[in-house]
Amino acid sequence: MRVIPNLFPALQSESSGKGESEGLLKWVAGRGAHEVVVESPLHDRGLGDHSLQHLTDLLRVCRDRLRELMDDPDHAYVQLFKNHGEAAGASLTHPHIQILATPVCPDAINREANAFRLHQERQGGCLLCDLIRTEIESGRRVLRAGKAFIAMAPFASRVPFEILIAPRAHLESFQDLDPAGITSLAGILKEQLGRVKEKLQDPPYNLALHTAPNSRFRTGPYHWHLEILPRLVRLGGFEWGTGMYINPVPPEEAAKILLGTGTEHGRND
Ligand SMILES: [Zn+2]
Ligand SMILES: [Zn+2]
Repeated sequence: MRVIPNLFPALQSESSGKGESEGLLKWVAGRGAHEVVVESPLHDRGLGDHSLQHLTDLLRVCRDRLRELMDDPDHAYVQLFKNHGEAAGASLTHPHIQILATPVCPDAINREANAFRLHQERQGGCLLCDLIRTEIESGRRVLRAGKAFIAMAPFASRVPFEILIAPRAHLESFQDLDPAGITSLAGILKEQLGRVKEKLQDPPYNLALHTAPNSRFRTGPYHWHLEILPRLVRLGGFEWGTGMYINPVPPEEAAKILLGTGTEHGRND
């Protein structure tokens, strides 16, 4: 595996200028970083196809890059993501992961952080810890309830077969994963990507890591997680216009299909 700067970076450390505004309009310099993690020399091996050892090494490399990039005071957030397949935005066919450090905290993270803060104020706990407990009690959307990690088809999934993977113990940042945690994550990630590939005939998908922003930009509690979004339906004007999603496969159905006909693997019902 190799980590290299993106040849066509969306953001880079040398960007000049600083934050300015003109009336209502505000902007910042596009300062940041844009790196490509080449997963392996093999052109036709998807993320879930690597050996457990290779995937573990790959995740450790990603964690180390996130640590370093998040330490830079110019970076408010570091986004790790993967586009698999052309329909998911992959412009380069060789399997790779991308890491983008941004000078501002993205709206999606701010929205989630807000929800975590509100939940803590109202209920006094962590939103995702509480959600994980609820999901394990119900069992209807659980894909794997491992010791260290849970995988589930999240309630009110935005797209068919959306998958959420999160550590069961409260952990704000992906960068704080220890070696045992990385090995467990590799195992559950490999299993879920394998199910997506096998049960859905290797669809295009996006994978995005959500982790706590740089501590200077943190507003409250957070609990890191991975989101996997298969691209089986096209998002259109309704989704753009409303932020609401029409999902023809409810997560309870998606879980059954991903698990196969049996009721193995961590389901309680
Ligand atoms: Zn938590
Ligand atoms: Zn999220």
